[in-house]
Amino acid sequence: MQENENIVWHEQHITKDKREELLNQKPCILWFTGLSASGKSTLANAVEVELFKRGQKTYLLDGDNVRHGLNKDLGFSELDRIENIRRIGEVAKLFVDSGLLTLTAFISPFKSDRQIARSLVKYDEFIEIFVDTPIEVCEQRDPKGLYKKARDGAIKNFTGIDSPYEQPENPEIHIQTDQKTVQECADLVVNHLIKFGYIQGNENDYAI
Ligand code: ADP
Repeated sequence: MQENENIVWHEQHITKDKREELLNQKPCILWFTGLSASGKSTLANAVEVELFKRGQKTYLLDGDNVRHGLNKDLGFSELDRIENIRRIGEVAKLFVDSGLLTLTAFISPFKSDRQIARSLVKYDEFIEIFVDTPIEVCEQRDPKGLYKKARDGAIKNFTGIDSPYEQPENPEIHIQTDQKTVQECADLVVNHLIKFGYIQGNENDYAI
């Protein structure tokens, strides 16, 4: 799509820095990626609850929910998947600009797509969280019955079955959910945010 040269970015008086100060947090995108049923939504929700309890301002963009509205015109072809992630990245960027700790839970199986999302914000505003769960465990959990449908051939291009998942090479946070409780996994993320100054707090509160 062509950029329109008559559309000019309008500088706003209230900047991200000012919002950051008011909200007492450093906004960022917490980008959860992993196989279906790896635990992205569960963890993103658990992290948001922890942050909310601490008085932080957050918003969670969830894959299925976004497909009900903003991206309901998109399917699962390669082009549509790229557009899906691009729009999510742009929306997440706006939320970061608004000062929020923005959590996203999307399979986002391709490195290049995650790279697009990462490239939209400053390098320390993107925290990639690899929700690393072996496919056998995901398939056993199968909370939405999707693996069964994919195995039966009722869903095509299902990540992990007949479509690849490209693992992150250097995620900021790597979580193995089959070895920890949901709370322990959520605490790892909150700890990271404290350690790197996104929120105030004492890491020892979350020693696990
Ligand atoms: P996704 O969003 O990745 O598709 P969901 O969060 O919808 O995955 O489902 C993950 C399932 O795994 C849930 O039923 C959840 O209760 C279960 N689960 C078990 N242990 C964990 C854990 N440590 N972290 C996250 N989910 C877990």
